[in-house]
Amino acid sequence: MRKVTIGAVVLCAAMVAQVPAAHAQRQVAGPVTDPNDPKYITAQTRKMGGPMPAEQLALIFDHLDLALKVFPDEKRIEGVTTLSLRTKAPITTLILDLFPKFTISEIAIDGKNVAPSAYSNPEGQLRITLATPFDAGAKFTARIVYAGTPPLAKRPPWEGGTTWMKTPDGKYPWIDTSLWGGGCDLLYPCLDHPTLKPATSDLHYTVPAGLMAPGNGAFVGKEEKDGWTTWNWRARSIHTYGSVLDVGPYKVMEGDYKSRFGNTIPMRFFYLPGEETKAAELFAEFPQTLDFWENVIGPYPWADQKMGVIRVPYSGLENQTLIGYSNDYPKTMFGWDWLLNHEFSHEWFANQLSVANYDDLWLHEGLGSYAQPLIAEYLGGEIDYMAQLKSQRAGIRNEQPLVTGQERGEKEVYADPTGPRGDIYPKGSWVAHTLRKLIGDDAFFKSIRTLVYGRPDPKPGNFTPQFGTTQGYLKIVNDITGKDYKWFFDVYFYRAALPKVVATRENGMLKVRWQTPDNLPFPMPLDVRVNGKVVTLPMTAGSGETPAGAQAAVTIDPSSKILMQSDAIDKFQAWQATQRAGRQ
Ligand SMILES: [Zn+2]
Repeated sequence: MRKVTIGAVVLCAAMVAQVPAAHAQRQVAGPVTDPNDPKYITAQTRKMGGPMPAEQLALIFDHLDLALKVFPDEKRIEGVTTLSLRTKAPITTLILDLFPKFTISEIAIDGKNVAPSAYSNPEGQLRITLATPFDAGAKFTARIVYAGTPPLAKRPPWEGGTTWMKTPDGKYPWIDTSLWGGGCDLLYPCLDHPTLKPATSDLHYTVPAGLMAPGNGAFVGKEEKDGWTTWNWRARSIHTYGSVLDVGPYKVMEGDYKSRFGNTIPMRFFYLPGEETKAAELFAEFPQTLDFWENVIGPYPWADQKMGVIRVPYSGLENQTLIGYSNDYPKTMFGWDWLLNHEFSHEWFANQLSVANYDDLWLHEGLGSYAQPLIAEYLGGEIDYMAQLKSQRAGIRNEQPLVTGQERGEKEVYADPTGPRGDIYPKGSWVAHTLRKLIGDDAFFKSIRTLVYGRPDPKPGNFTPQFGTTQGYLKIVNDITGKDYKWFFDVYFYRAALPKVVATRENGMLKVRWQTPDNLPFPMPLDVRVNGKVVTLPMTAGSGETPAGAQAAVTIDPSSKILMQSDAIDKFQAWQATQRAGRQ
């Protein structure tokens, strides 16, 4: 998911130029409350993750079979969804998430039709009373036949739904879905909690002949019948917001990437006719992006399927193996496309490593944002790494802690003022940078690899998708370093305010101390440069000193290793706020 840009803040000039005007102002839109508005979505359908009914948490989702027939002129779909489920605990009611305005024509459990009186879906939780309750360990299928218009995307890709439009030449339907900000139940019956993504999926999209419906995973084949084409895809471990319904007159650029791990990764770019030249230039970036990832982090997790990118109108979104690319092929001073690289980072930080609780969403967006300084460093060197970080630094607001330790849904983290919202991107990135500088490259990248793959030595075939938590990452860092970095996590993740250096000069000495929220311990070593000479103060008790005369030239943290309070940034942000107020 691309970052919500903060009006006029932050971004380096190149990035500002890339942001469509419609997305340039940070607005967390409230729900549409008129049920007759085609953008209306119930609170239940808008919800992603968070506390769930026990009946849902009792389930294991083995397989999703999703067949959608798409009627572009009517903005309507007909769906047949079969969920293969198992129970970890007894259930008497099956509860699925589904947009309540879909009309359900048939439900069958294990092939036996359920009487309409046995199910209802008033607000987005489809409750099916089971004729025979299931014990723990039961295996069954639920088939739901339904139809209707999926909710129209209100503000894609941040408030999800479906967008029905025409290609820029006005000739063909161009349909896009963004399931972020709503989840799978915007499109099909499912279990909208990160831990309840299906292990495997078969997707069948039937569209008018002449149109293509690219999907997640590997292409299985297409069937033509009576003026319709069905596109079949097979995928594994698709996130609950990571599937797509994208339809258009797509063309495909194809290539193979020879991985350093010995395997071959199919590369596919689904683009629109008329964009061949620009599309070819973007496609030429795919191998260098894979080079970076496989060198610095580890093997591409979905090599058995594809590296897939699709040109879409809105969704800069990490749909697994089919990431949405809505940029207009800009050129940047860095020489690579930031949206492509941000979204591609999510194949690791969101799709391979998924949060179990949206409270830890910085693992997706913060590490995903740190991937841009990292690729900048890999391709362009130190100045590009620092330039990326500096632009991110200016966007950190510190209004709420990144993490609470509570079970939270996506809205509480991403949209509500009580959550960290946009900070999960740049602050998450800067915390990663600070940790790297603290523990060193070897330990840092080993910790990231272990977090992402569940092991420090990933190779194709020896790892499975992982769920991660902030506390789990702390344990990994502690195990690898043999030290306890709880103090680091306590300040950066569980407190809003940044640590601050308080510096004074007395009697020929520079005295520095860390000031932290709630006076938390913060033994962060601090570099200071005095008259051109750098000394590292251990700060074990939170303070230190070094000789510096009254006229000495002093720079705190001259290599910018540490995320800390900055008067310059605070004043810059305050000035920006006055500029925004003046424009309104
Ligand atoms: Zn993102």
